[in-house]
Amino acid sequence: MSQHEDGSESYESSEEEELNPGEAGGREEEWDEWNGDAEDADEDVTKSLFGPERLPNPEAAMQHDAEKHGFDLPQFAIQEGLDEYGIIRVINFVRGEVVAGRDPLPALAAAAAAGKAAAAGAAGKTAAAGGDVSPWADDRYLVPVLEDDALLCYDFEEVAAAAAAAAAERAGVSSSGAAGAGASGSGSAELARLRAENEALRVALEAMRHEFLPDELKEEGEGAAGSSAVAAAAAAAGADAGGPSGSSGAAAAAGGEAAGEAAAAADPEAAAAAAAAAAAVAKAKRVDAAYFDSYSYFDIHREMLGDKPRTEAYRDALELNPGLLRGATVLDVGCGTGILSLFACRAGAARVVAVDGSERIAGFARRHAELAGYLDSVGGPMSVVAGKVEELDGQLPVDKVDVIVSEWMGYALLFETMLDTVLHARDRYLRPGGAVLPDIANIYIAGTSEAAGGLGFWRNVYGFDMSPIAGAIAEAGRGQAVVLDIDRKHVRTTTARVRQLDMCTMKPEDQDFTSEFTLELLPPVAGAEAEAGAAGVEAAEAGAGQQGQGEVGCIVLWFDTEFSGRHCQQHPVRLSTSPFEPTTHWVQTLLTLRKPIPLATPGCAAPGARVITGRLSMVRSKTAHRSLDIGLTYRAELSDGSVVEEAQLYHMSVTAPA
Ligand code: SAH
Repeated sequence: MSQHEDGSESYESSEEEELNPGEAGGREEEWDEWNGDAEDADEDVTKSLFGPERLPNPEAAMQHDAEKHGFDLPQFAIQEGLDEYGIIRVINFVRGEVVAGRDPLPALAAAAAAGKAAAAGAAGKTAAAGGDVSPWADDRYLVPVLEDDALLCYDFEEVAAAAAAAAAERAGVSSSGAAGAGASGSGSAELARLRAENEALRVALEAMRHEFLPDELKEEGEGAAGSSAVAAAAAAAGADAGGPSGSSGAAAAAGGEAAGEAAAAADPEAAAAAAAAAAAVAKAKRVDAAYFDSYSYFDIHREMLGDKPRTEAYRDALELNPGLLRGATVLDVGCGTGILSLFACRAGAARVVAVDGSERIAGFARRHAELAGYLDSVGGPMSVVAGKVEELDGQLPVDKVDVIVSEWMGYALLFETMLDTVLHARDRYLRPGGAVLPDIANIYIAGTSEAAGGLGFWRNVYGFDMSPIAGAIAEAGRGQAVVLDIDRKHVRTTTARVRQLDMCTMKPEDQDFTSEFTLELLPPVAGAEAEAGAAGVEAAEAGAGQQGQGEVGCIVLWFDTEFSGRHCQQHPVRLSTSPFEPTTHWVQTLLTLRKPIPLATPGCAAPGARVITGRLSMVRSKTAHRSLDIGLTYRAELSDGSVVEEAQLYHMSVTAPA
C-alpha cells in the first residue's frame, strides 16, 4: 500500500544481491560489535556521554555525566538556549569526539563561555539569527553516532521549552509576548510564538472540520487537510536541512508553550503542556482521519490491484503454499477490497478474518466475499470487520490465528507504513509459531547519476536552456526525499543493503536505525554487462561524457519483501521494488546530494572516486505522525587525494516537488 500515481514499464530481472555479494548484514554486525550493545535487552540502557559506563536509562546517564564528568546536559541546553535538534546535535557531537579519542569538554566549555558573552547583547542559539558557530552546529551531528542511542530517544521537549523561555527572557521578551525592541533574537522568539499560535489554531480548526463537516463536504476539506498535514509535518520535523540550524525545530518546540500563553495566562506552564498535548493529539487524529479517508476511494485500490508484481506476489504466496494455507485460520490486516482474504479462501483456508479501518472499503470487501460465495453469513469462511485493528480487541470472531497476511509497505518501505499495526496484530492474535506474510523486508541503496532526478530535461528544451526551472525544482525539493521511477541506466554504483527486518521477531523500535554502507563504482562497460544487461550497455554508451553520468548526484532507495521458505516452504516468493525489476506503484525514492561526487572515469584525467562510504539513518518523526526523517552522511576520496564529505537530512513527503 502507498498513495501515489505511477506508470508501469517492464525491465528484465536482475538480482541485486549479485551486485554486491557479501554486503548484506555484515556492516550492521560490525556496528553492533563496535557499539557493544547488540545484546542489550533493555532499549532504555544508556551509555554515558563521556565514559564506557552504561546506565539503566537516559535520566540516570545524564545524572551520572553531571556528577562524574561535570556536564549536565539539560542545564547546558537551557543555558545555551538549545532546541530539541540542538540537543541532538550536542549529543552526537560529544559522542563523535569521544569515539575519535578527543575530549569534548573544553569545546563545550568554550562554547558556553562564548554563549554567555553573546547573551549580554542578544538571544541564545535557539533562533540562530546571526548564524550558529557552535562546534555542534553542523547538520552531520543530527545523524546518530551510536546505533540505538537511548539518549536520542529521550523526550527533551520540556528542556527545549525551558531553553526557549530562558533565551526569550535573555532577549527581553515579556511573558505577554510583546516583541523586545531591536534585538534580533527577540523578534525570532516572537515570530516563533505567533507561528505556533497560528499552527495550534489551524490544527483545532481542521479537527473541528473533520468532526462536524457533513460527509459530502468532507472530501474537499480532508484533501486540504491531507496536503497541509504534509507541510506541517515537514515544518515540525525541521526538514530544511540546509537552512539555519534547527530554526524550524525551535518554532515547533516553542509551539505548545506559546499556544498555552495565548490560552491561559494564569498558569502558563500547565497551559503550555496541555496545549502542546492537545495539538499533538489533534494533529495525529487529523493525519489518521485523512489516511483512512484516502483508502475509502477506489482509485488507490485500483492502483494497488493493478500493480501486478505486488498483487501476484501475494497471490502466489497464498495460493501456491497449500501446506501453509489449507485449513488455516487467517487474519488479513488492512483488507481493503478483500483481495488477500479472497486469495486465502481460494487457497482453502478454514477461517479468514478481514479487517479494515476504512468502513466504506470494508463494506465493499464484504460484498466481494458474498459474490464469491465465501461470506460467513452464507456458510463461507470469510468474515469482514470494519475498524482499526488496534481498537477491535474482543470483537473479532477468532482469538488466535495461524497466519497473518498484510500489505503494509509504504514508500522507501517505512513511510506512512502500517507496520506498527501488523506488529500489534502479531503480538495479540498470532498463535506461537504462526506465520506472518511477508516475513522479511530489506531496504537497499545505490548511487545514481544526477540525471536520475529527471531535471536534465530542462537543460535542452528544443535547443533552449531552461535550467533555471531545474534549479527552482531542486531548491523546492531540498531536504525532501522524492518518490520517483528511476531508470536503471542511471545507477552508477553497487547496491548496499542498509536494513533487514524480520516481521516475526522485530520490535516497533527496529524501524528506526542507522547503518553504515559502502558503494563501489560500477565500471561502465563491465558493470553494464554484469549487472544491467541491455540497459547497462546504454549507460555505457551514454558514458561519462553525458551530463551528470560521470558523477553520483543522488542516492536511490528501494526495498523488497520476502515470503521466505520459513513459512512458504512449497513456493517462496519475493516482491521487489528495485530499479532492476519490473516497476511497482512504490517506484523508488531519491535523495539528492548537495555535493555530487565525481567518479573516476577510465581514460579521463579529472579526479574522481571509486568508493563512497557513509551512514544512513531512518527515523520515524517524533514530531509528525506517519512521517519519516532520513539522515545521510557520505564520504568519497577522489583520485587526487581530495575528499568530498557531507551530511544531509531529508524528510519523506508524499509528492515530488514540481
Ligand atoms: N490488503 C489490500 C489493501 C492494502 S492497503 C490489498 O492488498 O489490496 C492497506 C489497507 O489497510 C487500507 O485499506 C487501510 O485502510 C488499511 N489499514 C491501515 N491501517 C489500519 C489499521 N490500523 N486498522 C485497520 N485497517 C488499516
